[in-house]
Amino acid sequence: MSAPFLPFTRPSIDEATIAAVVQVLRSGWITSGPRVLEFESALAQRCGGRSVRVFNSGTAAIDIALKLADIGAGATVITTPLTWVATANSILAAGALPKFVDVDAKTRNIDVARIEAAITDQTRAIMPVDLAGLPVDRDALYAIANARGLRVIEDAAQSLGASWRGQAIGSTGDFVCVSFHANKNMTTGEGGALVLPDDVDPKLCERLRLQGVTRLPDGGMEVDVLGGKFNLTDIAAAIGLGQLASLDEFTARRRHLARRYFERIDPALGLELPLADFTNANWHMFQPLLPPRIDRGQFIAAMKGHGIGIGVHYPALHLFSLYRRLGYRDGDFPVAEDIGRRIVTLPLFPAMHDADVDRVCTALAAVLS
Ligand SMILES: *Cc1c(COP(=O)(O)O)cnc(C)c1O
Repeated sequence: MSAPFLPFTRPSIDEATIAAVVQVLRSGWITSGPRVLEFESALAQRCGGRSVRVFNSGTAAIDIALKLADIGAGATVITTPLTWVATANSILAAGALPKFVDVDAKTRNIDVARIEAAITDQTRAIMPVDLAGLPVDRDALYAIANARGLRVIEDAAQSLGASWRGQAIGSTGDFVCVSFHANKNMTTGEGGALVLPDDVDPKLCERLRLQGVTRLPDGGMEVDVLGGKFNLTDIAAAIGLGQLASLDEFTARRRHLARRYFERIDPALGLELPLADFTNANWHMFQPLLPPRIDRGQFIAAMKGHGIGIGVHYPALHLFSLYRRLGYRDGDFPVAEDIGRRIVTLPLFPAMHDADVDRVCTALAAVLS
């Protein structure tokens, strides 16, 4: 009998969380309500008491952060080309332009040393991304932002549970955007959160989240800004509460499995492994780079033949036709392009067994040698 298919990720939802969802479904109130408020306070507690608001996606959290930071037409936002396309799409959707800066070959995150040179009079903000849950150097990043009077909108979609110099991601900084998509380290199915800086009114954030509406004490309402439809349901918040309670356990398990990959992957296979950070990173993904001689499509198909799912996160996004239309070309960001062509995501999720890692390593050896 062959082993069951091993996907590159899978959420872990415990029975208590399933029961909590059932309770919401039976309660008669299934959209935004008491569970959302409870989820927001639990997240706020995790983020050092800062204000947190939740949304129906991580993308919504980024869109609203851009609105709250007043970034629109005429502005440029500095970001990385090696990320989920949502990062740059949100900048475009705000009416602003993304200004990409190449990544560092070791961290695969925006090369902070190159940011200064990309700043122009139009630059209003920097949007760093913690790829695979490895945090961008917050000290160096905020030193530049503060010196140049730029806002920072952290796309921390992948890095909840990670930390920088002992401080949890989300507990410091300017705007911090988180995603609870099903593939992230904790999920609500779909969902997201935004940690707000002190100079932003959480009530304005709430109005932007739901049609600009303020409920009045007399039962009436007022609308003073154009809001959208971005609220999270209590059904989703109940999942989030259960997931948040397990987040540290999930992170510990992910770190353990990542360590095992480092121990078990045969160096002779020629894979370039990610930075071995077991202090800050939450190991959202484990991503080697294939040797240049290997065809990625064939590799993925061969691993599938061994019952193993492989992901690609991500091709360099400035080469998508939408972004080429802005003038970006092959060769603009050679480090991101090289990584984007060779990167693969190996299976890594909390419910995986040590033996699953070993199975992936055995298949890697068979496929690559
Ligand atoms: C997942 C993700 C997002 C968007 O989150 P959604 O919840 O899918 O909208 C944005 N940026 C990055 C880097 C992500 O990984």
